[in-house]
Amino acid sequence: MIFEQLFDAESSTYTYLVGDEAARVAVLIDPVAEQLERDLARLGALGLTLAHSLETHLHADHVTSGASLTARTGSLPVVHHASPVTCVAKRVAHGEQFTVGALAFLVLETPGHTPESVSYVLGDRVFTGDALLIGTCGRTDFQGGDPGQLFDSVHAHLFTLPGETLVFPAHDYKGKTSSTIAVERQSNTRLVGRTRAEFIELMNGLGLPPPRKMDVALPANLSCGQRPSQE
Ligand code: FE
Repeated sequence: MIFEQLFDAESSTYTYLVGDEAARVAVLIDPVAEQLERDLARLGALGLTLAHSLETHLHADHVTSGASLTARTGSLPVVHHASPVTCVAKRVAHGEQFTVGALAFLVLETPGHTPESVSYVLGDRVFTGDALLIGTCGRTDFQGGDPGQLFDSVHAHLFTLPGETLVFPAHDYKGKTSSTIAVERQSNTRLVGRTRAEFIELMNGLGLPPPRKMDVALPANLSCGQRPSQE
């Protein structure tokens, strides 16, 4: 398997390039618009054809390059079945599997950060979006977020994965690159050691400012990042 963890410093977003060595096909998970040329250059250097861009959710903090990748490579975005995006996309539901070459992705619906958040399991690793971050979790105070739902998602669908499963989130703000389910189950600062009610109270009281790019990112991401100026 070809695996690269790429980083957008402005939004602290991790984009994952995952490819099948034999079939020379790949996916990009949560690609960022500003990093389009970087990502295309990596695919080109590795001799990989992009099959899909995978969105873990509708992002509020950066614009996806999903539509641009479709225009440049013919790749098809993959989104939650109930995602509000208007672009042509492959829509997936809980428990569904899809393959890219020999890579088999399993879809887990993990709502709470947003209603249409999904995680993707690939062998020994899980891409958790903002449902589960390293030592913490995504916020739940806008965009249909629901802390009770997030608590249930993580405990039912992520903490039940094998402990050695590697956790690759959509963001980290402190330079950490991965975790494991065992570590998160034991020491996640928000999700462990609290009842569901205590977690809801904590999340509802965070008092965070809105993401800087939200007004631009949300409408743009509804069309998988295709902005009118690009037409
Ligand atoms: Fe997010």
